[in-house]
Amino acid sequence: MKKNIKNFDIDDLKEELKALGEKPFRAEQIFKWIYQDRANSFDEMTNLSLDLRKKLDENYSLGLFNIEKKLVSVDGTRKYLFDVQDEDKNLIESVLMEYHHGYTICVTSQFGCKMGCKFCASTGIPFGGNLSPGQIIEQILEIEKDTGVKISNIVFMGVGEPLDNFDNVLKAIEIINNPKGLNIGARHISISTSGLVPKIYELADRKMQCTLSVSLHASNNNTRSSMMPVNNAYPIEELMKACKYYIEKTNKRISFEYALAKDNNDNLEDAKDLVKLLQGMLCHVNLIPINKIDSGKYTKSTNESIIKFRDYLNNHGIVATIRRELGSDIAAACGQLRKQNINKE
Ligand code: SAH
Repeated sequence: MKKNIKNFDIDDLKEELKALGEKPFRAEQIFKWIYQDRANSFDEMTNLSLDLRKKLDENYSLGLFNIEKKLVSVDGTRKYLFDVQDEDKNLIESVLMEYHHGYTICVTSQFGCKMGCKFCASTGIPFGGNLSPGQIIEQILEIEKDTGVKISNIVFMGVGEPLDNFDNVLKAIEIINNPKGLNIGARHISISTSGLVPKIYELADRKMQCTLSVSLHASNNNTRSSMMPVNNAYPIEELMKACKYYIEKTNKRISFEYALAKDNNDNLEDAKDLVKLLQGMLCHVNLIPINKIDSGKYTKSTNESIIKFRDYLNNHGIVATIRRELGSDIAAACGQLRKQNINKE
């Protein structure tokens, strides 16, 4: 099987070329063809010899996707269903959202997810493995190609647990950051995690400059464990310790996500516990009205309790905002991505 050339950063590509008996500087040229000129075939890379183009074509693919389906929301949000065109018919979803500050893409990092969060539509999809770095990047390239827009922000909030696909996600980010690659700065990238504590320490030690979002969703272990099985492995105290370490090492603010579900985690007691938990931390709380999924027992909190919850946090020194819901009419809002639904359609 051909290797996806988008799995390689420039330095890796130099090694690949050396192994083919080629000069390493060709790597820069190829990189430019891929990320600046957006070539769709090796044949277009006209400053490479015919012989090299042929060699590349024999050994590598450009990892292009097929758009299986595209849905456009009334608010302009677009959801794409891609066939990643590897040996199986693997389908993934990505979402493009427009904000006043630019376009944000929500990318998928795994074929399914192992975390099993009870409120998330990705739960229950048979897990099909990790996306490669090239498959993560291709979501951006394909959407830019299809829409002609320039994406300015990337959030790893599609299907999958990005820190469970650590190496590939970090490699993709390297290529995305590279000024000769997609040239999108780390500050414009958010990684969202359900709370894989050892990986949070690893990110901290690498002084990762991306924004870290932590899906907290509850301020006590009982409630959190009932919503997120990962809390049994890494309870709140350990998660908070890792988050504090991360803040200390990177000097970066953590964004805590908190999906509000009626009578589950949305009363003032929960807000009080949350204030105690986050007091003094460099952080921000993103309140998400939970999206009801078919199999889920959770329903959205009322607007009134969401606002009360936010105000309580804000009045007690914790900066909290309510996330605007985009794309819910095309099942593209938080936690709604589920490739199997679309398979069946
Ligand atoms: N696995 C990662 C990233 C994917 S989900 C994580 O857990 O953070 C991105 C965000 O959407 C997470 O905060 C997740 O908890 C949240 N989410 C999942 N299902 C949701 C739902 N039904 N309603 C609201 N938010 C949801």
